[in-house]
Amino acid sequence: MANSVFNVPYPINEPVLDYLPNSSERKAVLDTYNILFNQTIEVPMRIGNQDIKTENTETLQPPHDHQHKIGLYHKAEKKHINAAISAALNAREKWSQLEWTSRAAIFLRAAELIAGPYRAKINAATMLAQSKTIHQAEIDAACELIDFLRFNVYFMQEIYENQPESSPGIWNRISYRPLEGFIYAISPFNFTAIAGNLCASVAMMGNTVVWKPSDHQIYSAQVIMEIFREAGLPDGVINMVFGDPVMITDTILESPDFSGIHFTGSTDIFKGIWAKIGANIQKYKTYPRIVGETGGKDFIVAHPSASPREVATGIVRGAFEFQGQKCSAASRIYLPKSIAQEIINFVKQDLESISMGSPANFENFVTAVIHKGSFDRLVNAIEQVKKDSDAEILIGGTYNDQKGYFIEPTVVITTNPKYFTMEKELFGPVATLFVFDDSDWKNTLTLIDQTSEYALTGAVYSNDRYAIEEALQALENSAGNFYINDKPTGAVVGQQPFGGARASGTNDKAGSAANLMRWVSPRLIKETFIPAKDYRYPFLKS
Ligand code: NAD
Repeated sequence: MANSVFNVPYPINEPVLDYLPNSSERKAVLDTYNILFNQTIEVPMRIGNQDIKTENTETLQPPHDHQHKIGLYHKAEKKHINAAISAALNAREKWSQLEWTSRAAIFLRAAELIAGPYRAKINAATMLAQSKTIHQAEIDAACELIDFLRFNVYFMQEIYENQPESSPGIWNRISYRPLEGFIYAISPFNFTAIAGNLCASVAMMGNTVVWKPSDHQIYSAQVIMEIFREAGLPDGVINMVFGDPVMITDTILESPDFSGIHFTGSTDIFKGIWAKIGANIQKYKTYPRIVGETGGKDFIVAHPSASPREVATGIVRGAFEFQGQKCSAASRIYLPKSIAQEIINFVKQDLESISMGSPANFENFVTAVIHKGSFDRLVNAIEQVKKDSDAEILIGGTYNDQKGYFIEPTVVITTNPKYFTMEKELFGPVATLFVFDDSDWKNTLTLIDQTSEYALTGAVYSNDRYAIEEALQALENSAGNFYINDKPTGAVVGQQPFGGARASGTNDKAGSAANLMRWVSPRLIKETFIPAKDYRYPFLKS
């Protein structure tokens, strides 16, 4: 027993390394990439204290080289999911009783492992599995995951310190219990950090978890699991399963002990899961916590006072980094007529200088999109634009899937502000421009607010303070993360807590105390030092 009130280390954002030519970090990550690329691995599921292999396997290949096999993974049957639920429930008692400082130490150690000995490996695995450039891998798999772990440990302490007032003769206190039962975490392909955080944030608060990563992130998910285990995470606290998402989800949602879901992914999938939870509500011992961060149709709007060069940079970075596969990526862009052509010229110049190919070549800014389904969806959209009379391809519009799933950064221009590429999340390197009359500034803000079902991120570029204020007010409910004179992507943990409203999610702000609060069930304890001995209150005296 510690007999002390400890303070966890004050969190500081992990510095982003540059990977300059001849730097040691560049050599380390390229060497690791080449080793991983030239070997094949087998990824078992991890349930309780066992690595589980099955007869049912699937191959792993990089999206930028889809005929090249880098491994295979094992898929679950229903019995494995039931075993994962049991493993989580069995681990819960000891894990939830462990001193919170020990839980903190495990995840702080995991952060240090990523920052040091595992940095090259987790980045190289993310470059291979998700086709990220080294910069995109570094800000995600290394820095953001480290930040999630360090900052969440700090927020956990802040939550525990939050205690009620007491009055004379009475001591009130709150214990922040983990939820009863187990939590289900489902993660998307596009961020290694999100995958790690969805399960770690829940486990940190004393819960046990069944975690289902995306089929298209398994290669880097197994590195996360390796790190958590090396950091000392006990068996059964996070159980990692792969396979048919519908079977896995249905099996989990049948369990009376299901007590919450931590989801990040697309909107329709989340709505479907929510409906299933609703339909099963009579089965559960407790009301499940439902946390989901989902899709976006994120905007950039430029005011006539904006700097065309700055807007163009915001578009190029905001729409095309990681092939536009960020929930926050700019995909509908509103430009005033007076400066539209100048902005378009800058964007054209920039995109002409961009090269596309394997992330192993550090000169490439753009690499492949994640899988054939995504490639086909984007090709269909591009071909539709070519047919329609109210839109045209302004820049790009070519594609090639011979070696990898490559889509050229594409800019569409439309005269129809409700055109389908202004409303629908395409999740790829396709952005659509709509040009408005300068005098229509205020109407355009209303239009932005009323276009698409999402409200995740958005940005205004302006050098006119009144216009910025107008945008802030008119777009109050149009974005959970709103940027002034900056691109709408690249939220940093501890600085810009992330999440959107409307169809973009429950807005519980990943990387904040608000999110961690969803994974506890506070118990108020009132202690009276001298208990009453007579039921009669003074007013009863005659
Ligand atoms: P996805 O919805 O296809 O998959 C997400 C997860 O859900 C995966 O693990 C997948 O296997 C699982 N899944 C798929 N079908 C399911 C079903 N029927 N039942 C239960 N689970 C199911 O999303 P994705 O392609 O991996 O990721 C891209 C999406 O995620 C985009 O819509 C993007 O906007 C969103 N996203 C949002 C945020 C955010 O913070 N708001 C962050 C990252 C990604």
